Amino acid sequence: MSDRFDRAAAELLALPDDELFARGDAACRAAFSDAVHVRGLIEASNACVRACAYCGIGRGNAGLPRYRLSDAEILGAARRGREAGLSSFVVQGAEDPEFGPLRLARLGEALRRELGGEVALTLSFGTMRRDDYAGLKAAGWDRYLLRFETSDPELHLALRGSPLSERLRALEDLRDLGYEVGSGFMTGLPGADEARLAADVALAARLGLDMAGIGPFIPHEATPLASAEGMGLRPALRAVAALRVLLPLANLPATTAAGSVAPDGRERSLAAGANVLMPNVGPAERKREYELYPGKICLDEDGMKCLGCLGLRVASVGKRLDFGRGDSPAYLARTGQEATA
Ligand code: SAH
Repeated sequence: MSDRFDRAAAELLALPDDELFARGDAACRAAFSDAVHVRGLIEASNACVRACAYCGIGRGNAGLPRYRLSDAEILGAARRGREAGLSSFVVQGAEDPEFGPLRLARLGEALRRELGGEVALTLSFGTMRRDDYAGLKAAGWDRYLLRFETSDPELHLALRGSPLSERLRALEDLRDLGYEVGSGFMTGLPGADEARLAADVALAARLGLDMAGIGPFIPHEATPLASAEGMGLRPALRAVAALRVLLPLANLPATTAAGSVAPDGRERSLAAGANVLMPNVGPAERKREYELYPGKICLDEDGMKCLGCLGLRVASVGKRLDFGRGDSPAYLARTGQEATA
């Protein structure tokens, strides 16, 4: 049974690329002008207890050195990002028992003390109990990222070993609790076709997300999907453009995965409707070990150096970096708040 979101997504994805990307770009500029919001990403741990079939940091990858940042390292990275002018930070990690809800709550409080009330703090550590999400919100985290990964329930269960409904329940809890909510998906997972792409875009639109990350799946040799094909940048670009038209006020990142499958992948995402970049501001020596997929970009640079490079990249598509909090206008609208500069 298809609903209006399925029909709208299929209609958009039937457009020729040029027209679809132009529609995405126009919708993005209407909502955000030329601003590209910058989030400082800190990858806190790669010691995952899960074994998602696509993911290079799953517990099955025996060859990968495992690391955990200390709270002091995370605070230090955020402090340096703040000194460089950033006002929005994302702490992401493996599902790692050492980063349980209590520790993350203490970390949120410490980041708030360190950075003040003005910065946006986003967490991305997978599914948790509703009470835990509530405690984390009270501790100062105000946004949460949790991709649904694929809208196909059978594929989701096969790849992740847990049901799609669990991920969707978590997204509902986060929304109820007042978080600014981000989700999203990978394009080009095994069996990908046009119908699946439309269904993924439609689910993201139906969820009324405040933020949505869409990136190409990149096969990793130490995972069960080692011999999968991956489909490159194009499906991700089309999905970004279509979702921009359907969710004009959502924050949509130009993802690191897009920049890793094509040298200009992030610029092309920004020219098709994306409005966010998430440079890694964590310790340079750990970036390689957060090895979700091979070919990850910017591994050797210090995160602060990336800011100069990103400024040039966004200028190439007629945009500029914006170091404000970058609250999602979709979130402000649904919670009855006014946008502030
Ligand atoms: N543990 C957290 C964070 C996961 S890593 C969670 O489960 O939400 C962040 C994202 O990287 C994932 O949501 C997934 O969409 C993406 N990712 C993982 N493996 C990938 C791969 N091989 N290619 C591209 N993206 C991948």
